[in-house]
Amino acid sequence: MAFIVKKNIHDKEYYYLNENKRVDGKVRTKTLAYLGKTKKGAEKKAKEIKSGKKDNKMKSEAKAKEKKEEKAIKVGSKIDEITSISSKRGFFFQTANIYGGKAGFFTYGHLGKTLKSNWEELWRKNIVGLDENFYEIQSNSILPEAVFKASGHIENFNDPMTECKKCHFRFRADQFLEDNKIENAESLSIEQMTAVIKEKNLKCPKCKGELSEVRQFNMMFPIHVGFNEEKAYLSPETAQAAYLAFKEEFSATRGKLPLGLAIIDKAYRNEISPRQMFFRLREFSQAELQIFFDKDKINEHPKWNQVQKNKLRIKFSTSKEIQEISCSELNTQHKIPKFYLYYASKVQDFYLKILNVPKDKFRFRELNEIERAFYNKIHFDVEIMLDTLGGFKEVAGVHYRTDHDLSGHSKVSGKNLEVFYDGKKILPHVLELSFGVDRNIWTLLDIFYSVGKEGSMFLFPPALSPITAAVFPIIKGRKFEKISEKVANDLKKEHCILYDKTGSIGRRYARNDEIGTPFCITIDEDSVKKKDVTIRERNTGKQIRVKIEDLEIIMKKLINSEIKFGKAGKPFNF
Ligand code: ATP
Repeated sequence: MAFIVKKNIHDKEYYYLNENKRVDGKVRTKTLAYLGKTKKGAEKKAKEIKSGKKDNKMKSEAKAKEKKEEKAIKVGSKIDEITSISSKRGFFFQTANIYGGKAGFFTYGHLGKTLKSNWEELWRKNIVGLDENFYEIQSNSILPEAVFKASGHIENFNDPMTECKKCHFRFRADQFLEDNKIENAESLSIEQMTAVIKEKNLKCPKCKGELSEVRQFNMMFPIHVGFNEEKAYLSPETAQAAYLAFKEEFSATRGKLPLGLAIIDKAYRNEISPRQMFFRLREFSQAELQIFFDKDKINEHPKWNQVQKNKLRIKFSTSKEIQEISCSELNTQHKIPKFYLYYASKVQDFYLKILNVPKDKFRFRELNEIERAFYNKIHFDVEIMLDTLGGFKEVAGVHYRTDHDLSGHSKVSGKNLEVFYDGKKILPHVLELSFGVDRNIWTLLDIFYSVGKEGSMFLFPPALSPITAAVFPIIKGRKFEKISEKVANDLKKEHCILYDKTGSIGRRYARNDEIGTPFCITIDEDSVKKKDVTIRERNTGKQIRVKIEDLEIIMKKLINSEIKFGKAGKPFNF
């Protein structure tokens, strides 16, 4: 007999049609259909289903709608869960909450800031560390107007905007069109966008009012500096500061190419419609590496042998499929130069091998000529499949920018930026590896969020986890606490350690699983006698016993994934 049940998910009601059936002597409940969000609608739908009134077409339409709604609930609830844990435990929250917050601005709490620092550290090690002639520099976020005249930002750094004539709500026209199922809206001109809005009779999403013509909106934040109010801008990318530093750094290092200048810093864009969590912020962090090289050497790289057999996961602009193609095939058949492919391959390794992003969630997407900036001769975005945002989303890019930037700055400043290298005078070309740090942090939260038997957890790789290990005495008493404090203090020299002596052991494990702590170390009766401790692994719940004197070395190996958990100590069961 089928019956209606109501489920409360995040304070919203959802109705289902369930049925109890006896299977192997046990009564089991099976969900027959999703009935919608209102009691009245659910009763009507249940009646129709029970009387078998719906014909096949109606049934399949209803099923498709159910699936869509259920998917939306799942996506919505995953975002809600991550957001709720994040503000409760200190990953991130909206800035200036007490004043109502402001769209496009977030604050990282103590755990979020450590997660971000850990990501940046891995980026330094694995991206800036790719060549001994790559260096990190630090410059300014406020730069003079001339810089952005030279770069083309003042003229071209625009997004298409439309405005409701009734309620004056302003929003991005291309995103609005994509939300209304217009494919590749990003590649339409503003005149074409206006025409589509008229033709489809699209109205304001807030009040259904008529929409204005689409016009360009410049995304730069202008500011005025000093007594004379000189015009300047908050930089919309870290890249420009690296181009400005090129000549000085070229001579301060060894006058050698390729030269890499990396910057991790804030970027500012006055986004029309900040949304999608960390994906469209107005103030965000970028980690960008500008590699200056001799264009005559674009089809070579001294370490080409390391990558030539690596297969890259690529979606070309002309294809709907992701293909896995080796670097040597991409070079010979698709004419992508070796210098570009070497770095693209290292970027893919960073995501798959260092950050542990599952392979099927990663792809390079080629941008077509309309989508990419006119000066980018080759442009692939790095995209990751995110449940919370419902598809592949851009988190980084590999851009061959030619000599566009250095020649622009040469012209506007009147300073010759050519260098003498390899017996000739050249204006170097630039390959840019550009990463949005905040988008990468959201990616980690999305990919590693999981729901286990005991509740929610983040399965961060140990090198990324904000807390590397938690230490707790499981028996009350000074002698246990003393050992625990010593263990925690010794490990603190190298790792981020949390010491916790309150609550039941189960609650302490759950609290740490929830913030992604990969290992919990417990001190018990035997620790006093045998001078050993138990380590519990978050992902499996398995436990091993190790000597206190070996703990520092074992923890280092576990965090760097140099040893398998089961092999790091004696298996231990209660
Ligand atoms: P989009 O097309 O999504 O607007 P973009 O192509 O303009 O991004 P780039 O100028 O290539 O982005 O910037 C480099 C990186 O900076 C992007 O890959 C992204 O990770 C990050 N980024 C860009 N804009 C934002 C933003 N508003 N909020 C957060 N991160 C951003």
